[in-house]
Amino acid sequence: MADTPTPMMAQYLALKAEAGDCLLFYRMGDFFELFFDDARIAAQVLDIALTTRGEHDGAPIPMCGVPVHSAESYLARLIRAGNRVAIAEQVETPEEAKKRGGSKALVARAIIRFVTAGTLTEESLLEPRRANLLLALAPMRDRVGLAGIDISTGRMELEECAAGDLPATLARLAPSEILVAEGMEDAPVGSIARPRTSFTSETGERLLCTAHGVATLDGWGSFTRPMLAAAGGLMAYLDHVGRGTLPLLLPPVARAAAGTLFMDAATRASLELTEAQGGGRAGSLLATLDRCVTGAGARLLCDDLSAPLAQRPGIEARLDLVHWFHADPLIRADLRVALRSLPDIGRALGRIVAGRGSPRDLGQLRDGLCESAWIAGLLSPRPDHPVLLRQLLPALGGHDALTDLLARALVATPPTERGSGGFIAPGYDIALDALRDTSGDARRAIAALEARYREETGIGALKIRHNGVLGYFIEVPARHGEVLLHGEGGFTHRQTTANAMRFNSLTLHEEASRIAEAGGRALAAEEAHFEELIERATAAREAIAATAAALARIDVAAGLAERAAEGGWARPTLADEPCLAIIGGRHPVVEDALAKAGERFVANDCQLVPDDRLWLIGGPNMGGKSTFLRQNALIAVLAHTGSFVPASSARIGLIDRLFSRVGAADNLARGRSTFMVEMVETAAILAQATERSFVILDEVGRGTSTYDGLALAWAVAEAIHATNRSRCLFATHYHELARLAESCEALSLHHVRAREWKGDLVLLHEVAQGAADRSYGIAVARLAGVPAPVLKRAKGVLARLEKGRAETGGLAAGLGELPLFAAALEAAEERSDTLRERLTGLDIDTLSPRDALDLLYELRRLAGE
Ligand code: ADP
Repeated sequence: MADTPTPMMAQYLALKAEAGDCLLFYRMGDFFELFFDDARIAAQVLDIALTTRGEHDGAPIPMCGVPVHSAESYLARLIRAGNRVAIAEQVETPEEAKKRGGSKALVARAIIRFVTAGTLTEESLLEPRRANLLLALAPMRDRVGLAGIDISTGRMELEECAAGDLPATLARLAPSEILVAEGMEDAPVGSIARPRTSFTSETGERLLCTAHGVATLDGWGSFTRPMLAAAGGLMAYLDHVGRGTLPLLLPPVARAAAGTLFMDAATRASLELTEAQGGGRAGSLLATLDRCVTGAGARLLCDDLSAPLAQRPGIEARLDLVHWFHADPLIRADLRVALRSLPDIGRALGRIVAGRGSPRDLGQLRDGLCESAWIAGLLSPRPDHPVLLRQLLPALGGHDALTDLLARALVATPPTERGSGGFIAPGYDIALDALRDTSGDARRAIAALEARYREETGIGALKIRHNGVLGYFIEVPARHGEVLLHGEGGFTHRQTTANAMRFNSLTLHEEASRIAEAGGRALAAEEAHFEELIERATAAREAIAATAAALARIDVAAGLAERAAEGGWARPTLADEPCLAIIGGRHPVVEDALAKAGERFVANDCQLVPDDRLWLIGGPNMGGKSTFLRQNALIAVLAHTGSFVPASSARIGLIDRLFSRVGAADNLARGRSTFMVEMVETAAILAQATERSFVILDEVGRGTSTYDGLALAWAVAEAIHATNRSRCLFATHYHELARLAESCEALSLHHVRAREWKGDLVLLHEVAQGAADRSYGIAVARLAGVPAPVLKRAKGVLARLEKGRAETGGLAAGLGELPLFAAALEAAEERSDTLRERLTGLDIDTLSPRDALDLLYELRRLAGE
């Protein structure tokens, strides 16, 4: 039979039941303790000691703990490791508990908050340059509603997508935490199941209306039922984790799916837009692009790049603003200096509204809003504002009353902790100043008292000291104790330690009380001011959030202008017909990497137009095919984001969907049969790409046998050409595909150039017209350091294979009457073989025996190279 748990354990177990699958941080004095499995998990993740405390059901209870004062950093590590944490605080003091329930009463505890990846507000737990999205999903028939909020700034967006587009949408949003209704089919991995009842459109509408104190949401746009159902799940969760305190919520915005350039998860991953393939930001387009000087700017840029716009007016408006900053390096430089010192006011506001604000957060608002007004003053006088800037400027100001108040009320650098006061500036409140004077006077009086007692007692070593237990006391070395014990001075004994005796006196007691009382009242006064300031800031939350958003947009535009100036980028021209005309295009990430190594990137042109819309690109491995494909896709993404592009000029017809696929051989790390993945992804393109889409296919078909691969690549290229009619760049090492040019009128052949120079392969990285002449595979292998005997053997095998191919008409012999390409290949092969050249050039009859012997040596040397 199980023992009855101790009262404490019973309390713990009840709280733990409430916490569900969250780890429970149970406050005990200066520590948060974890028990049972929670302790095991935490001890492992945090690498702290696992101990035991008491017994439960006859077995020791595993336990570990973290100090309260450093709990944040431990929380951060637990959350990053995928955990959620419930925080159970003591909600009364031990004295209150005793008053309530006698000397053995247990202090009442309650869960005051849940900390989860998607609901963080703490500066130390958030990444400054990344948004932190909490997302709820609500499937309805073949649609899915999505409601997302970045709690740290209060930005809330609702949208809807087709069920089939959910993976792509999730890839775009990259949420930190996903909520679904219990029992949802195909719920995303790691999502959190919540009660179904909250995921209804009625609940969503009701909770949003209540939170914003409005009767209808109509004023903010039109929200569909799936969107509102998702919002219901989201709002109910926010209420649950905040235990009734809602975070900062800005009015919801409906995001139209048609407004963004569609990219699926595979495309995003292969283009490395915001994350490199290995994970992490380094090596991504975002990392190369980001010159933002504020965290909020960097977060907005990441959003922009994840969801490039699909429509012209929005893109042009952003481009106009970037252009404006690009054209004026002086104003850009001044602006960026000002932005650099700007605190993250959006997130400070988020903490304030969530009830976790500190004096430091108020100070950040003060400094940020002042800086914002200064920036408005910097930008306003210019006569030629682009439309977007004209819209943003008014949002930068209008906070004078609040900033004046904060400037008067707060000290220059207010602390994060408000418990010990000291953040209200002198002069703000006369009564508070008086209280402070009183404590100051009393402190001085105590110092004077010490001097007086020394003189009166004749004990030079007498001191007046202070500690947490006794408060103020008089201390003398033990050997002088007797003097005070029996003297007339009015000293009362308090404590004897090993070396000293401690006393009190009436005068000291009076002065100490003065300090304590004035101190307590001063603290209370500061607290009252704090609450009022928080209230004032909260009242202005929407205007402050708008200022933060405007500053972020300005930072993004100025940062993009800076990047463009640095790299010699050009403003893209948008066109209505489906074209992609890029002159002197570069791959910004590869270009940067080469520049670091002191090498130069070779710029290339791309000219896709409706009647030449599919380029087949051949050429040796390492010749630059993938780079060329991707650079054009990246340039398209950048243009749609509203950025300048790494090219000398670019004219781009608006793209509705962008697809990028890489043949399976490069993706071995993935679990499923890689060829299967490749084909699933290819099928998705064939099903979704339109005449307005842009597709890059890199070595598709490579993941299977030569014949299968060639056949599939052939059929895919034909289908894209004839059926999807998308703009497409198709890199392949199958020379045989070149024959597609005979039957597909809008397909043309191109190759990356290479040359053999004295037996060495030189990759020129230039994209040129026409089919590739040969593959240079062995030359590449040699470049890569494959040993000479192996290369020699490979050459022998190749010669045999090619002889066979020539005789039978080659791999694609069955495809038509003309084995044109194979013949060309053989000729090329012959040209390059130095050994054969030397042999065929010999006049054997004229050789002397001596010459013949020398020649044999030479031939053997050549063969060995
Ligand atoms: P492929 O796809 O043809 O095998 P990649 O595009 O992967 O070749 O390019 C291989 C390497 O060649 C790249 O990592 C880069 O260092 C270099 N490279 C590619 N394109 C260029 C270029 N245009 N200019 C300079 N170097 C380039």
